[in-house]
Amino acid sequence: MVKTPIYFDHAATTPLCEEAFDKMKPYFTENFGNANSQHCFGREAVKAVDEARDTIASIINCKPGELYFTSGGTESDNWALRGIASAHKDKGKHIIISPIEHAAMITTAKELAKDGFEIEFMKVDEEGFVDLEHLKSIIRDDTILVACMMANNEVGTIEPIKEIAEIAHSKNAVMFTDAVQAAGVLKIDVKALGVDLMSMSSHKIYGPKGVGALYIRTGLKIDSIITGGHQERTKRGGTTNVPGVVGFAKAFEIAARDMDKNFEYVSSLRDRFINKVLAEVPFVKLNGPRKEGRLPANADFSFRYIEGESILFSLDLAGIAVSSGSACSSGSLEPSHVLLALGLPEGLAHGSIRFSFGKRNTAEEIDYAVEVLKQAVDRLRKMSPLFKVEGETKNV
Ligand SMILES: *Cc1c(COP(=O)(O)O)cnc(C)c1O
Repeated sequence: MVKTPIYFDHAATTPLCEEAFDKMKPYFTENFGNANSQHCFGREAVKAVDEARDTIASIINCKPGELYFTSGGTESDNWALRGIASAHKDKGKHIIISPIEHAAMITTAKELAKDGFEIEFMKVDEEGFVDLEHLKSIIRDDTILVACMMANNEVGTIEPIKEIAEIAHSKNAVMFTDAVQAAGVLKIDVKALGVDLMSMSSHKIYGPKGVGALYIRTGLKIDSIITGGHQERTKRGGTTNVPGVVGFAKAFEIAARDMDKNFEYVSSLRDRFINKVLAEVPFVKLNGPRKEGRLPANADFSFRYIEGESILFSLDLAGIAVSSGSACSSGSLEPSHVLLALGLPEGLAHGSIRFSFGKRNTAEEIDYAVEVLKQAVDRLRKMSPLFKVEGETKNV
């Protein structure tokens, strides 16, 4: 028997790795200094923060001075969007973003629209890939920012960031990418990609929660959103979360060191799961890329005739933790904005479940989950009035 509960929700958060935890511990207790203080306690903290900055900068190929620590992906996304909008509004008020961004971006863009910015969405195809020709057709001389995530948190699509950055720069617009799901999983070289700003978060890569970073290219004009003391070269006020930053860097270092091994292992679990589900569960649709260009951890399915939430509860009862739609919209009855942008009809956009695997999962857990899923789907469909009316139609 496999041990439950089984965690298949790594795109929502990951457990803190032991090495990161060990490295953090002294910074809660004996090395508790404020990195702004002018004494030995402060210097100890500064040393730790500098070391962490160097580690992450070398992994993504930027200068340490181009990396700013934040409270996480949401703050980094807010900073990029609001900070660029505010600093570049003299050039224009046109902002282009992808329609499948995280809520941290979509919600912030809606706020900017209230302040008179014109938000336009790129098009994505049915697998979630950005339509580059469409982007070329909508970018303008007064476009100040093009924002597209490196990899999608719900359906796992990996976007052509280098090509998007080239299009952005053809009109002198700033290129921002939310790399929260990609950092530590894919090789990232910010210079080779040509991005001007990039968000990262620690807790998606086995680091602690509540810490992240924003890469800001040297020379880029950006306003602050959190003002206060002189922290982060006076660009982001607030006492530095020293243990958090230390744990983030350690987790990033381990993720980079084990990247190839983890990629191969986690994608083998994903493929085992996808192949079994497609073979054994009827009326199911795999959302996102079918072949290339999918995050190794991600499998997202829509189950016809059933609500995603009902499947989630059944799996939870059997000790399997997954997510319905995007984590941020769970609990609400809104269909997923990501699936709607991929062109799914509302019924299917409601019936979706995301499984996101991690390096500690096993093939036994995958096989158990497929069995539980098969039974849950079968039982729920027997209770679904829609299935009785339309049932036994062709697969989707
Ligand atoms: C989780 C996530 C965020 C938010 O990061 P937090 O550190 O949880 O605030 C932003 N973007 C994407 C793509 C994410 O998956």
